[in-house]
Amino acid sequence: MRPATYFPSFDHLTRTGGAQEAFHREAAALAHAHFGRKVFVRAVVEVSNFCRQNCSYCGMRRDNRELERFRADHEALAELIIEHRPASVTDINIQAGEDAKAVREVVVPLIHAIRRATNLGVSVCLGSLSDELYDEMQAAGASIYILKFETGDPDLFHQMESPGTFDDRLGRIRYLASRGWNVSSGFIAALPGQTPEQMLKSFHVANQLPLDGCSVSPFIPGDETPLAEMGAADINVTLNSMAALRKMKPEWVIPAVSALNLAEPGAGYRRGLRTGANLVTINMTPEGIRGDYLLYKRERFIMTEEAILRAIEAEGLEPSETGLAQYYSARRAQLAVA
Ligand code: SAM
Repeated sequence: MRPATYFPSFDHLTRTGGAQEAFHREAAALAHAHFGRKVFVRAVVEVSNFCRQNCSYCGMRRDNRELERFRADHEALAELIIEHRPASVTDINIQAGEDAKAVREVVVPLIHAIRRATNLGVSVCLGSLSDELYDEMQAAGASIYILKFETGDPDLFHQMESPGTFDDRLGRIRYLASRGWNVSSGFIAALPGQTPEQMLKSFHVANQLPLDGCSVSPFIPGDETPLAEMGAADINVTLNSMAALRKMKPEWVIPAVSALNLAEPGAGYRRGLRTGANLVTINMTPEGIRGDYLLYKRERFIMTEEAILRAIEAEGLEPSETGLAQYYSARRAQLAVA
């Protein structure tokens, strides 16, 4: 018999105290049933902060004239990744503002270099690009695309000036999946003015998309954005959303995002792991440029290998020796046989 499908109610997303702890424990048990106590460990490199989009919540929006814009040197990044990556890293995530020039000049050569010299998995998080650019990166050897739908409510998406149109964003997610990418998406919890109904719509959209994973980021009032004076998301709503996603899709890869530590300094990240998150990210962006990669605050919370491994161990978890791309490809082969 198929287990009953789960869908959260607003009451689930606002739980606190003992009911919340039990909810998170249930979610974590589902993650352990699917993945054991293993957590995937990737490293992110942020390769450009040029952005043609103007998302109200993001410090890299094109209207931010305070930001010194950069594109990284792909040869220096390749050397850093190939020769100096932390030992626990199995996958590299390449991230940037929406910058087609950086994709052609930095990302594609970097993917080729990683592919030639290592067996690291490659994921990319580069925004709404042309089909040709997506295909080019896939041909170079990337296999995971991260494209967040940001909010499940089309009106809020428009109001927040999220990239392009809501339908176009979802269309690109579907295109990527149809071309064989493993696609992860995500949404922001508690955007300013978000209603309970709008919040639940994010779960509806996530549920309908052809995804292998999904993230929840707490809204952080970004420096140098029109929303800088707004309140940050409640960490509990964010964590409850992560637990609800895990219950809705036990087989998904759900990351613990670094912003959890901005929403609850010192504890948010570990609490994320406690809701059954099974992917962590070490930041490998060179120090000289990461200060201008302005997602949230100028004062960034940098996840080092040491901090990540300490958090994993403290939660009774272990770094996975199997990479994420490797896991997806083995699962695909299994499904093809079944
Ligand atoms: N430019 C690419 C794109 O659009 O997919 C990738 C990088 S984008 C800068 C990374 C993600 O950060 C966004 O999709 C958004 O969900 C998140 N983000 C940006 N500013 C945020 C904020 N203030 N609070 C929470 N999440 C935020």
